Amino acid sequence: MSELSEAEKPAEATSAPVERPASAEKAVPVKKSAPARKAAAKAAAANAAVAETAPVAPAKPSKPKPKHKPESRTALVRRARRINRELAEVYPYAHPELDFENSFELIVATVLSAQTTDLRVNQTTPALFAKYPTPEDLAAANPEEVEEILRPTGFFRAKTKSVIGLSKALVENFGGEVPGRLEDLVKLPGVGRKTAFVVLGNAFGRPGITVDTHFQRLVRRWRWTEETDPDKIEAAVGALFPKSEWTMLSHHVIFHGRRICHARKPACGACPIAPLCPAFGEGETDPEKAKKLLKYEKGGFPGQRLKPPQSYLDAGGIPAPPLGVTG
Ligand code: SF4
Repeated sequence: MSELSEAEKPAEATSAPVERPASAEKAVPVKKSAPARKAAAKAAAANAAVAETAPVAPAKPSKPKPKHKPESRTALVRRARRINRELAEVYPYAHPELDFENSFELIVATVLSAQTTDLRVNQTTPALFAKYPTPEDLAAANPEEVEEILRPTGFFRAKTKSVIGLSKALVENFGGEVPGRLEDLVKLPGVGRKTAFVVLGNAFGRPGITVDTHFQRLVRRWRWTEETDPDKIEAAVGALFPKSEWTMLSHHVIFHGRRICHARKPACGACPIAPLCPAFGEGETDPEKAKKLLKYEKGGFPGQRLKPPQSYLDAGGIPAPPLGVTG
């Protein structure tokens, strides 16, 4: 870039106070004659009129938002799959973050996880399953006693109704077993597609995409889809990946959402997939400041599960504390 000549340089320091000679400040005003005063007043009035009627410079139009670089379908598929591969390297131990020993515990825990954290559910379910280990036990439970146990998960009355109703339906319609088909699962009280896919993917090994709040936020930040309806997101994202990858993809995305790409303060400066992310810069980009935003095992905090899988512990993950234990 060529340097500007002195003449081309913009006038500098126009707002700086202009030094005036001391004599100027003390100068005695020169008395004007009457006609001179009249002419001066006329000129001043004319100047004021000009100032008032001078056309105001039109407000600059606000800068148009930069348009996204269009991305072909092939490029999108490649980028999406690359993000998933990179996340698989970052979170080789990704897993469902609800504690469960069998499909019944998983479906109940998933229903309870609405409007609360997996951690809170994991801290609550040990007491529930110790008292009501089977669908038959929970179907016959006294609702008030179940409510007391579920109180920490919030909306405990509605949740008590759901899990007792769900258990009754399992006993009455499925011989006390959790069915392994989507169409049966979604007929159970309190079970939608999200819960059904969690159960299918993690208790039955059938591929499913879990569109929770993290998943919705991240796939939109990555421009995998513009959809906002969970079922449409599920279909759009599902079309980018082979079915066999759906369950682990869901875990990778949710792990990333919980640990790095947070809703309010994504830690962009510490994000391993930043070069692939169109939303880079939505959060803190300074690496040192971003590191301080990391959560769970990367930031030294326990994960969500009281009984995490061995692979998580081997990687340095820390089990969550039971209910009532702090620190
Ligand atoms: S770069 Fe920022 S917005 Fe993009 S995935 Fe990483 S943390 Fe999220």
